[in-house]
Amino acid sequence: MAQPGGKTSFFDEGFSSFESLLVENGFEKYRARQVWQSVYERKIFDVSAMTSLPAGLRAFLADRFEFVSGRRAGGSRSADDTGKFLFELSDGRYVECVILEAPDEDGGIRKTLCMSTQVGCAQGCRFCASTMRGFKRNLTCAEILSQALSFADPSTGKFSFENIVVMGMGEPLANFDNVMRALKILNDADKFNFGARRITLSTCGLADKILQLAHSDFPFRLAVSLHGATNDVRGQIMPVNRRFPLEKLVPAIEEFSKNCGRMTTLEFILIEGVNDTPGQARALAKIAKRLHAHVNLIPYNSVGGLQWRRSPLKNRLAFAKILKDLKVSCTLRREKGSDIDAACGQLALKTAQERGAGESR
Ligand code: SF4
Repeated sequence: MAQPGGKTSFFDEGFSSFESLLVENGFEKYRARQVWQSVYERKIFDVSAMTSLPAGLRAFLADRFEFVSGRRAGGSRSADDTGKFLFELSDGRYVECVILEAPDEDGGIRKTLCMSTQVGCAQGCRFCASTMRGFKRNLTCAEILSQALSFADPSTGKFSFENIVVMGMGEPLANFDNVMRALKILNDADKFNFGARRITLSTCGLADKILQLAHSDFPFRLAVSLHGATNDVRGQIMPVNRRFPLEKLVPAIEEFSKNCGRMTTLEFILIEGVNDTPGQARALAKIAKRLHAHVNLIPYNSVGGLQWRRSPLKNRLAFAKILKDLKVSCTLRREKGSDIDAACGQLALKTAQERGAGESR
C-alpha cells in the first residue's frame, strides 16, 4: 500500500514478490533473503544500518520503501516500573504506548506492550481521557506497527516485550482493516512470527465487529471492556451501550468464543459508587459464567477534570470475593502506573494540552 511520499510499506511485501522485485531491478536473488533477515530477524529498520548490503541496494530500498512511520518522542517511568511513552506521528500528533511489567509464573518479569490505534477516540466513554478532545484520525497500519517496532533491539534481534495488548488510545475495531493488517504482519510466520496467543485486542464492545471476527480468521485473543453489568449502569458511562446494549453484545461475544474456541476476557474498571456494588458483581458473575469468560477487575485511575473516583480497596475486595464465591475466574489487578498518568490516553492528552498539539490540527 502506498505511503505518503509515494513509497510503499516494506511490511506489506510478501517474500516472493520482493525477491522478484529485486531481480527485476538487477540485484542478485539471494539479496532478498539477506534483506528479509536484516528486517525480520535482526530487526534493523534503518536502511543505512544494513551494512551487509551493497550501497546500491540500500539506496534502492530507501527510495522505494517506508519501514517505520513515527518515532518514540519521550515518556515517563513510574516508581513501580510501568513505562509510558509518547509516540510522535508524521503529522506531529501524539499517541501513547505503555510497557507494563508484571511478575510471571516462573518468578521472572513479563513485559506487555499496550499500543494505540487512533488519535483520540469517538466512543465517548465518560471516564476516559482519550475521548476528551474528540476523535482526530485513524492510525495507519505502519503507525500501529511502528509502535511495536520502536521497542525492538537490533543488537539482540528481540522485542523488549513478550505480549501485546491493543488497548491504548482509540477503539481498534473502529479502525478494523489497519489494525488487522498490522497484527497479521506481527504474527506472520514469514515476518515477525509473534505468537497470536500473545496478542490481545481489546474493544469497548462493537458487537457488529465482534461478530465479524467470529466469522473470520482471527487468531488473537479478545478482551471486551464491559465496565457495567446492567444496561443502566453501563449506559451511564459508555455511550456505545446505546448502539450495542448487553442483549446484543453478550450473544456476539458468545458467538465469537464458540466459533473461535477461545476464552474472552471481560475488563471491568471499578469506579466508586458507579459499578462497584454487590448487585453489579452478581450481574457480572452471571454474564461471565454464561460466556465462560475470565474477568479482570481494574482499579480506576482518576483523570483530571472528570468526576469519577477509584473504588475504595474494601469495595474492590468485596466485589472480587462475590465473583470468586460464585466460581467466576477473576483477577483483581493491583494499582499500577497511577503516578505516570496511566489512565488510557492521559499522557497524550496532557502533552497535547501543553504543546497545543492535536486540537488545532
Ligand atoms: S475507553 Fe477506549 S473506547 Fe472508550 S473512549 Fe477511551 S479509548 Fe475510546
